Amino acid sequence: MQTKNDRDAWLKGPNKRCSLLPEPQAHPHRLILLGAPGVGKGTQAVLLSEHFKACHLSTGDVFRAAKNTPANEQSAAMTVALGCMARGELVSNKTVLRLVAERSKCLHCGGGFLMDGFPRTVAQAKALEKLLAEQNVKLDAVLDYELPLKTIIARLSGRRTCANCKAVYHIESLPSKVEGVCDTCGGPLFQREDDQPESIRVRMAAYTKNAAPLKRFYKRRDMLVRIAAAGTPGETFERTIEALKSTNDQQL
Ligand code: AMP
Repeated sequence: MQTKNDRDAWLKGPNKRCSLLPEPQAHPHRLILLGAPGVGKGTQAVLLSEHFKACHLSTGDVFRAAKNTPANEQSAAMTVALGCMARGELVSNKTVLRLVAERSKCLHCGGGFLMDGFPRTVAQAKALEKLLAEQNVKLDAVLDYELPLKTIIARLSGRRTCANCKAVYHIESLPSKVEGVCDTCGGPLFQREDDQPESIRVRMAAYTKNAAPLKRFYKRRDMLVRIAAAGTPGETFERTIEALKSTNDQQL
């Protein structure tokens, strides 16, 4: 029996339906997660989605899901996008925005949403602001996870992902019980090609260029909540909940 939402409407596009819709919440949480690649946003998104019953909307996961579809079924834009991803470069705003706009139904998810990896540029943030206004959906906060660059690089290069269920491990801080095998589903663990040293360098450069203006954009709107991402995922999660409480989040 399916016990977990497979996020098909998000990962595979608007013609697909999720196998298990999140429970509708009286006050769905709608959050954006910012932070450098490797800061632990994805892990926090999973923890927060369990806590708030909100859907984890990661643009990176959409590209990774597309990678598994046969080349002749991919659009030309997607093939170009996947090339960018493999090199650690950002995909064009046009492609990412189209992909998000096509999935605008997910913004109305009854459990709310956690946007991870999007927006990454001010142009994307402006487009998202417009899309949310058109859809009459209000954002609660923008969580900004912070960590020194050296720690981020160590985290990224040790990261391993399950090819099956996408669970994330780390060879030092969060190893699987059996090396190379997922604890949850027994699937094989692999190192993402964009976690290889050269891709990491390119990704960090792209992040550094866009991060400051993006943060300013949300700070001006009084939405930015800064969170230290040091320590274990559990510690960062606790800090997140505390930070949200102090921003008048009454539903916690
Ligand atoms: P992530 O898993 O969020 O680190 O994303 C993996 C890769 O997907 C990135 O390095 C980019 O190539 C691409 N990508 C994901 N989200 C975006 C975005 N919002 N804008 C541009 N490229 C993106």
